[in-house]
Formats: sequence, structure tokens, C-alpha cells
Amino acid sequence: MIRELVELKTQKNIEMVSITHAVRSFVKKHNIQNGRIHIFVPHTTAGVTINENADPDVQCDLNMAIKKIFPDSLNIRHGEGNSAAHMMSSVIGVNLDIFIEEGKLLLGTWQGIYFWEFDGPRVRNYYIICE
Ligand code: ZN
Repeated sequence: MIRELVELKTQKNIEMVSITHAVRSFVKKHNIQNGRIHIFVPHTTAGVTINENADPDVQCDLNMAIKKIFPDSLNIRHGEGNSAAHMMSSVIGVNLDIFIEEGKLLLGTWQGIYFWEFDGPRVRNYYIICE
């Protein structure tokens, strides 16, 4: 198994950070030709997803929508005050699989891989794993 822990610093409270380039670099560095890459986010207030890589307005809309789905105004019990971020993390998920074919990520033309911050800004990590 090949495993790397990648650090990133988020800048905003809720933010999608493209990690496509880092994942491509991992595949190239380890010369993975065919198989599957796993992304794992070891946090309870962040997630990982695939979405559009062309129009940044899509990210703005996704961030706006998830805030509306899980507003800070919810009557929460968790004393840390970030329950909305915990809910976002559970709904979006902390795992992602991407297939590799002939050394390339099997992604659609308009797809990018995003670390999704829900309680930033913070220093974060994610794993890239190839079994
Ligand atoms: Zn919390």
C-alpha cells in the first residue's frame, strides 16, 4: 500500500479547495498505471467531493446551498458551536474513490476533486492511498 498525508491550509469558513493536481502528482510520482486511488479526510468538519472544475460560480452556489441546508441558526446542543459543520461532513462524506486507467485519473472533462472545508480557516490534512 502507498499512502501519503497531504497538508493544506484553508482560507475561509466554508470553501472548496481543488486537490486534483495533488492527486495527479501522486499517481505520476508512484507511476500508478491502473487501479484505484482512495482519498480519506481524517476530520469531522470537512469532506471530499467531485464537482465541476470550470465555472467557479458552481463552487459559490454549492457553498451557499449547503449553508442554507445546515444553517448556523439550528437549535444545536454541541457546545463547540460547529454542529452545522459536523452535519455537512457526514452528509458529504470523508471518502472518495477514483479509478486510474493508463496512468490517468478516470474523471469526466468537467470534473475536479475538492477538499471541502466546513469549519475553517484551519490547517487540514487528507490521505491519498493506493492499495
Ligand atoms: Zn465540534
